[in-house]
Amino acid sequence: MSASPPAAGTLPRRLLAAEPGWTLQADVCVVGSGIAGLCAALHARAAGLSVIVVTKVNIDDGSTRWAQGGIAAVLDPADTPEAHLADTMVAGVGLCDEDAVRVLVTEGPARVRELIAFGAEFDRNPDGTLMLTREGGHHANRIIHAGGDATGAEVQRALHAAITRDPGIQLLEHALVLDLLCGEGGRAAGITLHVLGEGSEDGVGAVLARAVVLATGGMGQIYASTTNPSVSTGDGVALALRAGAVVTDVEFVQFHPTALYLGADRELGQQPLVSEAMRGEGAYLVDASGERFMVGQHELAELAPRDIVAKAITRVMNAQHVDHVYLDARHLGAEKLAERFPSILARCRQAGIDPVTEPIPVAPAAHYASGGVRTDLWGRTSVPGLYACGEVACTGVHGANRLASNSLLEGLVFAGRIGQDLARDLPPQADPVPPPAEASWVVSSSTREELTGAMTRGAGVIRGAISLAETAEVLAKLGTITSGDPRPVNWEVTNLHTVATALVAAARRRTETRGCHWREDFPHLDANWRGHLLAAISPRGEFTDDYEAMA
Ligand SMILES: Cc1cc2nc3c(=O)[nH]c(=O)nc-3n(C[C@H](O)[C@H](O)[C@H](O)COP(=O)(O)OP(=O)(O)OC[C@H]3O[C@@H](n4cnc5c(N)ncnc54)[C@H](O)[C@@H]3O)c2cc1C
Repeated sequence: MSASPPAAGTLPRRLLAAEPGWTLQADVCVVGSGIAGLCAALHARAAGLSVIVVTKVNIDDGSTRWAQGGIAAVLDPADTPEAHLADTMVAGVGLCDEDAVRVLVTEGPARVRELIAFGAEFDRNPDGTLMLTREGGHHANRIIHAGGDATGAEVQRALHAAITRDPGIQLLEHALVLDLLCGEGGRAAGITLHVLGEGSEDGVGAVLARAVVLATGGMGQIYASTTNPSVSTGDGVALALRAGAVVTDVEFVQFHPTALYLGADRELGQQPLVSEAMRGEGAYLVDASGERFMVGQHELAELAPRDIVAKAITRVMNAQHVDHVYLDARHLGAEKLAERFPSILARCRQAGIDPVTEPIPVAPAAHYASGGVRTDLWGRTSVPGLYACGEVACTGVHGANRLASNSLLEGLVFAGRIGQDLARDLPPQADPVPPPAEASWVVSSSTREELTGAMTRGAGVIRGAISLAETAEVLAKLGTITSGDPRPVNWEVTNLHTVATALVAAARRRTETRGCHWREDFPHLDANWRGHLLAAISPRGEFTDDYEAMA
């Protein structure tokens, strides 16, 4: 641990000062147990490799189990991969990698069938065909769902059961991964982690592996208001930055337009989502006087892409000085609401709101990170032996904005590709080189509320040079408030701080509005910005970014 406080603006190169007290070993270490991590584990096993899955709390604590709307894939004979590709590219506003999107939409249907073979059961029509619905930005019915609006829970259940059946997969729960271990030449050789366990694997240890797959999910917890669960603290992106990997597109955070508004005094943490599928079925947005405000703003009205809807809601809230608007679903009727949206209905009723008889109060909340650890088409990051898939990764399929229900699909497809890559090219275990003792410190968890508040105010739904500069100043100050107590809460806040710093730097630099990055002072798309900001941390702990124009 550093003896003196770090200079403002510098970031730690690693979290851990202590030597690992115990070691486990497998061919592949998968970090995270959502759709991406569990599929990567199953595919690594199919390649004949031994696997350890490490997960921060319980196996099903990530975003996956909360997914409601469904998974997008071309399964209707009337639909085509070209049409899915076109919708995805439009949502990504010029920044999608077309090759990656092509992989997503062409390999997606087979990966969905594979998920069904793993045991996931999706809603079906009376004739046994998969029920397909439509969501914002899609011009065809291509969203499969399970249990009405409980898609993620069913996917998580099925994948959990599948890995449990396989004795070649070891699961470590309550295991917070800290940093990457590297061998000579910089190849990934495993991870360090902290386990709250019993027996031999307790406290700080290491998992040695021939390859490491990051599948740590999103970073919504950098904001005060998010639909993401508490584990979504951007740990994978922060770890990758510390390991010298390239991270990209982090300024593109999608805000879900309609999180259930529970009142100003709600506890910090996850806000329940009122799925887009409800608007897909015909619910509409109204202001406090009951007026529909999306009509006339976009040809798809309430089904416009998420950024357009979230921005419109934020503008109405700002203009009317209120902290929510309403989603009116009363005309759908009690029967349809109960059949199609049982979870949302139950959650609203738990909060004292009955969608059958009253409009639902809603407000935007941080929902999805389009950017992340940069990968190629096989999930490989810029660090040899380090892979990434799912929300932590930036494969290039989302560009400046994700099309609804493409994220579960991305986890499925690229986890499968990682499995294929592991099968063909996996060098032997590298000996980890002890990392340098300096450049390790942790930010105090006492800074968390100030950090998330500053991010929401200055780098949230709508941003500007002044608000971003204020947030950057707060982050620089908070980064010097360190703790001598190496504990999960402090490690997590250090990760939040690193990711927030990268996001604010990119958001300041990108002087245009594109996709879900909305600059009030640069309200238009600028063709000169058709490219990616690549973030990294220098060996001195300074944040750096490079601009890479697209061809
Ligand atoms: C409310 C909600 C609804 C959504 N609805 C949809 C939808 O309908 N369709 C769709 O396509 N997408 C949807 N999404 C997005 C989608 O759910 C996520 O993008 C997707 O589930 C991410 O999967 P993942 O496997 O990458 O990450 P997650 O499922 O979030 O899993 C991440 C895992 O990493 C673990 N982890 C994190 N940090 C560490 C660490 N340091 N050490 C060890 N383990 C760690 C976590 O504990 C967790 O197990 C929704 C998201 C939310 C929040």
